[in-house]
Amino acid sequence: MRVAMIGTGYVGLVSGACFADFGHDVTCVDKDEVKIARLREGHMPIYEPGLEALVARNVEAGRLSFATTYDGTVQSADAVFIAVGTPSRRGDGYADLSYVYAAAEEIAALLDGFTVVVTKSTVPVGTGDEIEAILRRLRPDAQFTVVSNPEFLREGTAVLDFLHPDRIVVGANTERAAEVMRRVYAPLTDGSYYAQPDALKGACSASRPAPLLITSAQSAELIKHASNAFLALKISFINAVANLAEVVDADIQDIAAGMGLDTRIGPRFLRAGLGYGGSCFPKDVAAFHWVAQQRGVDFQLLDEIRKINERQKDIFFNKVLSALWTLRGKRLAALGLAFKGDTDDIRESPAVALVQRLLASGALVTAYDPAAMERAREVLSPSGKMHYASSLYEAARDADAVLILTDWKEFANIDLVRLNQEVHFPIIIDGRNLYKPQFMHDHGFTYVSVGRPATYQAQQGKPRSLAL
Ligand code: NAD
Repeated sequence: MRVAMIGTGYVGLVSGACFADFGHDVTCVDKDEVKIARLREGHMPIYEPGLEALVARNVEAGRLSFATTYDGTVQSADAVFIAVGTPSRRGDGYADLSYVYAAAEEIAALLDGFTVVVTKSTVPVGTGDEIEAILRRLRPDAQFTVVSNPEFLREGTAVLDFLHPDRIVVGANTERAAEVMRRVYAPLTDGSYYAQPDALKGACSASRPAPLLITSAQSAELIKHASNAFLALKISFINAVANLAEVVDADIQDIAAGMGLDTRIGPRFLRAGLGYGGSCFPKDVAAFHWVAQQRGVDFQLLDEIRKINERQKDIFFNKVLSALWTLRGKRLAALGLAFKGDTDDIRESPAVALVQRLLASGALVTAYDPAAMERAREVLSPSGKMHYASSLYEAARDADAVLILTDWKEFANIDLVRLNQEVHFPIIIDGRNLYKPQFMHDHGFTYVSVGRPATYQAQQGKPRSLAL
């Protein structure tokens, strides 16, 4: 099949490369000329395990190409996917759909023969109808159906998630469009992709192919927002429980384990910490709330999810303050800047927000992140107060405290003897609960984490407690 992918970011590039790997003929289009030029030279604009090899092998096979214009790509495509950004609109939290609508306008001019126009971007319910109206207005003669095909991949495991999805959701209001989408995803849903010798191994297989759910376009749009809001809810819920656990000297890891063993609840997304961030949850929860309000539906729970998440960052900041008494002039090692491990994405990263606040309070920060430092430099410019290190041990040199802000595997496997030699004071404040408190205590550290009793080294004493 011929596929056009509009937008070559985390979703567009990964989806495009995977579709090419199915054997489809894919062109990825992006307005960002620098990004396309770099992709043509084989450089990945994002850090995503497995992506570079996937792109290389499909470019080499002649199934994947890159373009800066729609012309020549849209006309011949069976399906045109819109995978551009949908950030929060400033002020009201609604999704800024200007990139989606701009893409729809450009597509309209070029439609030729029956084409399925697919929204892969995360959009509020009703956006498909808006796109259809734009296409209809600009090209009353064109034959097309607008379909919703929300994407559920996670940054850091995007390629694997795309190829081994829990489910593929297609919202199509016509059978003809549904059939095109069935053919696009057939290698995953009939299992033939998994039978190939060089297929990436994961949860799906030839005998256990990916499930496809066909719904109306409106339901598919709602499935995406409802899913992200529900995952954000789980995180905020466990964080709220963690705050209570701390007050009564309980252990949130044990509580989460006890809850997660209930198959109705499940263990995932029950990790207490600094709160969620990234390019999806914050904006999707806000947009979902906005759309409910606009349709006259009271869904205050969504605002509570957001508020708990915001408060979680304040609580962590206060933990740092409480452990150090004052931040002015203190040297802090920040381990992690990405919003989560295995990605270089710093959009809405709680780690970045925290570092900004620490700097504003007079602290000196040396940060280390395995992948996100290049991006971070754009928002946290190196200065007399803000430094970057080339390893976590270098970041920790002479530090008054080490802060773990991102759940990179590397930070869960620190050589603690070496770390202890580097630091000025052996204090770790862990926003990701990567260690057991007793283990840290045995290694000579004062250890403060989230939702668990802190352990203190005798000579340092217990810090004063601050009102949260
Ligand atoms: P991104 O910002 O990484 O990439 C978007 C790309 O679209 C950019 O390269 C930009 O230059 C390009 N673009 C913008 N307008 C364009 C236009 N008119 N024509 C061609 N290209 C254009 O975004 P992303 O993270 O890939 O997210 C894309 C969508 O997918 C969003 O709606 C997001 O909510 C959703 N989503 C993201 C993830 C994720 O983990 N990042 C997961 C699921 C869904």
